[in-house]
Amino acid sequence: MKRSNLLGAALAAALVTGAAPGVQAQQQTYTFTFTSSGDAAFDAWRAGFAQRAVAAGRSPAVLQQMLGPLRPDPSIVTQDQNQAEFVRPVWDYINRAVTPAKIAEGVQRRQANAQLFTDVERRFGVDADIIAGIWAVETNYGTFPLPHDAPQALATLAADGRRRAQFEGYLLALMEMVEKGYVGPGEMKSSWAGALGQPQFMPDIYLSTSVDWDGDGKRDIWNNTGDTLASIANYLAARGWRRGEPVYDEVYLPQSFDYALADGTARPVSQWVALGARSTSGFGYMDQVMAMNAQLFLPAGAQGPALLLFPNFAVIRAYNPSDRYALIVSLLARAYEGGNGLVKPWPVEIGSLTRDQMLDLQGALNKLGFSSGTPDGMFGSATRRAVRQYQQSVGLPADGYPTPALLDRVKGRSAGIDRAAAQNASPSLRTQAGVRSLQQALIRIGKLRGRADGDVGPATRRAIEAFERSIDLEATGRATQFILDEARKAANSAPARRTTKKRRR
Ligand code: CA
Repeated sequence: MKRSNLLGAALAAALVTGAAPGVQAQQQTYTFTFTSSGDAAFDAWRAGFAQRAVAAGRSPAVLQQMLGPLRPDPSIVTQDQNQAEFVRPVWDYINRAVTPAKIAEGVQRRQANAQLFTDVERRFGVDADIIAGIWAVETNYGTFPLPHDAPQALATLAADGRRRAQFEGYLLALMEMVEKGYVGPGEMKSSWAGALGQPQFMPDIYLSTSVDWDGDGKRDIWNNTGDTLASIANYLAARGWRRGEPVYDEVYLPQSFDYALADGTARPVSQWVALGARSTSGFGYMDQVMAMNAQLFLPAGAQGPALLLFPNFAVIRAYNPSDRYALIVSLLARAYEGGNGLVKPWPVEIGSLTRDQMLDLQGALNKLGFSSGTPDGMFGSATRRAVRQYQQSVGLPADGYPTPALLDRVKGRSAGIDRAAAQNASPSLRTQAGVRSLQQALIRIGKLRGRADGDVGPATRRAIEAFERSIDLEATGRATQFILDEARKAANSAPARRTTKKRRR
């Protein structure tokens, strides 16, 4: 799907010059009668795309019908540019999405379509409550308005040009949908981003995955509940849903638990149990569950709920690649069955980071040598790993979860490195004078007793360790240039002592 502009142009050129047999008839340039949209850039893009679409084998008649009367919608570009500026804590998302009203409506929909849910579950092997949960999150059981026409939304974004090849690909898929008779050209209601119907499929997914459940020749994911639910189920089945297996289980962990194990590694449930995890249900696991692989997931760090995630969780995540999304769907599904929500309360007091703060954290971690990738303000797996490594280096519980308190600590350390780099006048530790300089600094800040003799012995190593701990570093006892710089900086800001003044005189 993601094809570069260059590749798209090359492909179109190859087709136009008749490189592939069977497209000879399409070498001619078609003349379309497009109404000017009043936007010259859009008109120019449309004229060029029309030729590329015909070269790619799409029907000129469908193309004329779909693109002929189009005008771009500037509000769509604005929405595309203003996405996800604001980041809320995970519990905020969950509390807004998993509400008593939403659950009650889901239970009612499950009952009103009981036979349909049963039949779809039987045919695709996918848990009916999970299907209902996705239906809820995507379009509130099909009740969210879809105010846009997919051709207009996708053409606007293609003409805008930032991801042109991707959106032109979606438009080609829309034309194919109409050519195959799955849907009429005026019936493709979408979100501003071009996601279609009640399951919110992009057009390529619609082509590969949507289902005509009632057999009327249409894949009507806009108005037909059977087509909608079967399409969602088919998507999950195609991505490896395991019939009859659970999605998650909440566990209690022992006090001394090593949170660094929550790093995405899948281990048999029996191993988690051996490490002290026990189900909050109060029951032990059956043998078949003991043998299943699970990841440990701490959505809000060590102080919040702990979940064992089974492989089906990852299948839900394939619908929308977000842990938060999959958790919301899973919690809704559990609630439809009359099950409980999470037992352990969210640690709301630890706060959460805004996107800007997340950017700061990523930059500071990178500077300290804990690589979080290119800073993007998003809390992804690279950032989680970098936070965990930082926590391990300073002896904190390594849950990989960033908080405002952690940000302060990391930024303090990172600023220290900046100041140290600016001080390039420190003597070398390869000389006795350099070691003496370090010892004097350690004496001055109260970490070392005795005199500066220029040799690194046990007392000096212990003093370095104490100093390292005091600035959140791993205690190594090694006399390094960085430690010398940091110790001198600390000594310069420490209150002056008489002994040092005497020596200076
Ligand atoms: Ca149908």
